[in-house]
Amino acid sequence: MKYGVIVCPKCGMAKGVESAKKTTTCQCGREIDMSRVKIMFLTDSPRVLAESVAQVNASLRGGGGMPSGKRSRRRDPYTAISERAKMVKDPLERMHVIAKELTELRSGFTIEDLRRVTVLLGKDSPEDMLARLREHNMVYEVGDGTFRAV
Ligand SMILES: [Zn+2]
Repeated sequence: MKYGVIVCPKCGMAKGVESAKKTTTCQCGREIDMSRVKIMFLTDSPRVLAESVAQVNASLRGGGGMPSGKRSRRRDPYTAISERAKMVKDPLERMHVIAKELTELRSGFTIEDLRRVTVLLGKDSPEDMLARLREHNMVYEVGDGTFRAV
């Protein structure tokens, strides 16, 4: 049995799941289609899973100790993307994750979208990021400065 961590698209809370499942229900009541969310921290240890969920939730909350399940504030999608990207160690993979998340957000992104994430990450410039992504064929231009991740 493999377990992973997903982040609920509605309330933004991390949740441990069996990766083989098709759907799961979050504590906020949202039914999550597993094929539409990214599974992080795949492990076969329930103990590691529990630690990972706690770690992701702590990082999503910026380390604060807010009680879970009672959050009503909408998360800024760029903040959520940058938080998830922070967990990716490899720089190129991190850029690809950002590009894919932005593509999912509104079926294509511009350099301004990239900039909003890179400002939060404070690592790469959006121009460099876009150049590397294109160099590795991880994104393609759909026209008018709009890109989509592969
Ligand atoms: Zn939820």
